[in-house]
Amino acid sequence: MIVAIDGPAGAGKSTVAKLVASSLGLRFLDSGAMYRAVTLEVLRRGLDPARAEDCARVAASLKLDFDAQGKLSIDGRPGEPDIRGREVTSHVSAVSAHAGVRTGLVELQRSLAASWGGLVAEGRDMTSVVFPHAEHKFFLIASSLERARRRALELGTPAAAERIREELERRDRLDSTRDLAPLVCPPDARVIDTDGKSVDEVVACLLAHVRGACA
Ligand code: C5P
Repeated sequence: MIVAIDGPAGAGKSTVAKLVASSLGLRFLDSGAMYRAVTLEVLRRGLDPARAEDCARVAASLKLDFDAQGKLSIDGRPGEPDIRGREVTSHVSAVSAHAGVRTGLVELQRSLAASWGGLVAEGRDMTSVVFPHAEHKFFLIASSLERARRRALELGTPAAAERIREELERRDRLDSTRDLAPLVCPPDARVIDTDGKSVDEVVACLLAHVRGACA
C-alpha cells in the first residue's frame, strides 16, 4: 500500500507520516531529506545552488539510503543533523527546482516504494507526481502562524516564531510557484486542516480514512 502525504513546510507531515507508517506496519519516506542532502553537498562543495548542471551532477554522485527508522544516510554517513541546518533550509528550494536534481530522486523514491513493498511517503509532490496512483492521498495544511509557532517550540526558541514564519512562507512561495512539480493539492487528495489539532488527532484521522472508517 502507498500512502502519499504532501503539504507546505512545517505542517507536521514527517511526524504524522512516521506514526501512520508505524501503525500500518509500513516504511516511512521523508523525501524532503533527499533534497536537503543534495543541497548540503552542493554547499559543502562550494557550488552555486542556482546552477542547474552543478546541482544535477552532485545529485547523481550521491548514494542516498534510509535505515529502518527512516533516517537518511549520504554515502554511508548520517545526514542528520546537518541536513536540517539553516543554510541548507534557505537554499533547498533553489536546488530542488532543477529538473536534473528531481529526475534521479523521483526514480529512487519509486524504487524504494517497490523494494519496501509499499510505504508512507511525505513531501511536496508525492500525491501529484511521484505516486499519483497511491491508494491514499492526503494534503496537510495549517496556518503559517501555527506552523511557525510549532516549529519555534520544537527548536526551543519561541521568540523566533516571526522569523521562522517568514522563512516558511518564503519557502512555500518558491515551492508552489516553480515550473517543475510545484506544491499543489491534487483534486483527489483529502485535505486535513491541522490547525488546533494535536498530532494524535491528525494521525487518528488519517488512519481512520485509510481504514475506511471515517465519517
Ligand atoms: O520537507 P522539507 O521541509 O524538509 O523539504 C525541504 C525542501 O525540499 C522543500 O522546501 C522543497 O523545496 C523540497 N522538496 C521537494 N519535493 C519533495 C520534498 C521536498 O521539492 N517531495
